[in-house]
Amino acid sequence: MSDNVLVIAEIRDGALKKVSFEMMGEGKRIANELGGSVETAALGSEIADLVAPLGHYGAEKIFVADDSALANYTPEGYANVLADLIKETKPAVVLLGATTQGKDLAPRLAARLAVGLASDCTGFEVQDGELLITRPIYAGKAIATVKEASRPYVATVRPNIFTPPEPDSSLGAPVENIPVDTGEIRAKAIEMIKEAGERVELTEADIIVSGGRGLKGPENFALIEDLASVLGAAVGASRAAVDAGWKDHSYQVGQTGKVVTPTLYIACGISGAIQHLAGMKTSRHILAVNKDPDAPIFKVADYGIVGDLFKVVPVLTEEFKSMMAER
Ligand SMILES: Cc1cc2nc3c(=O)[nH]c(=O)nc-3n(C[C@H](O)[C@H](O)[C@H](O)COP(=O)(O)OP(=O)(O)OC[C@H]3O[C@@H](n4cnc5c(N)ncnc54)[C@H](O)[C@@H]3O)c2cc1C
Repeated sequence: MSDNVLVIAEIRDGALKKVSFEMMGEGKRIANELGGSVETAALGSEIADLVAPLGHYGAEKIFVADDSALANYTPEGYANVLADLIKETKPAVVLLGATTQGKDLAPRLAARLAVGLASDCTGFEVQDGELLITRPIYAGKAIATVKEASRPYVATVRPNIFTPPEPDSSLGAPVENIPVDTGEIRAKAIEMIKEAGERVELTEADIIVSGGRGLKGPENFALIEDLASVLGAAVGASRAAVDAGWKDHSYQVGQTGKVVTPTLYIACGISGAIQHLAGMKTSRHILAVNKDPDAPIFKVADYGIVGDLFKVVPVLTEEFKSMMAER
């Protein structure tokens, strides 16, 4: 068993996902404290050029599983190839993004290796050579610290929590093509259809503008879309807005929706029920617009505007538009 950290980079739509770079920085820090190095693995088809930049982010070795059978994510194929690599290279820690793909792959991988898994982690610390992992539990009401009970230890990392290191083009890493044995693939994606309308992936967005029941109807989401458009933000929704059929479930933020950690979360006409907070409470800055000064959302908001969103949001859009134009 080595003291290395293996970061599983994720590729989507021909590009590395941002969380891959975030994990590189944190992976390197953990590896330094454990006394090992950080390595990375990427799976896909014709990805050699795509993965080379991972070396600029500190990877000391890049393992590539390049095969047409891996062009689209398949739970069994990806888990089999990674399990083989992990058994061979014996890292101490394996990090995956807590993305839709990572959340699906990590438990399968951990089970295949018969090791422990910590999901949706927000902090890592090495104490006396042991890894302590922080993760929110009970919909974010409490924070648990878990200790690795096996090696390798598999963990998924919440996107947008860690800052990616500055890339250094003078750094590079050897690329090693690894054998690909996907085993029997019983379930595979035949086609990937990108959702229309979603401008930025919600879980990776730097800014999110969300709307709730206070919008009164689906047509008024145009206000949210306009503000999001000016800010280059993703659009989110409360469950009330989703249950009313105003937005698709993929927009839902919260306990039974997506967990997001943007730099700025703007909540418009959202009361701030505990289940909604579970999905956005760890945002770096929260701005709430609500006509009710006692709305619970103001308890977690850094900035609050008490007022009618139908008046406030268009003003925000115009103000941000002129600020952006002056940049
Ligand atoms: C098991 C379970 C899981 C759940 N999971 C989720 C989840 O994942 N995500 C989620 O969001 N919810 C979830 N919920 C639902 C949650 O409890 C709330 O019902 C929901 O979040 C309320 O949505 P809302 O804030 O849009 O609506 P409301 O609570 O009705 O709030 C609307 C807000 O808009 C304000 N408002 C109204 N008009 C205006 C105006 N003109 N200008 C400004 N403000 C205005 C009101 O003051 C009010 O605060 C879950 C519930 C359960 C039981």
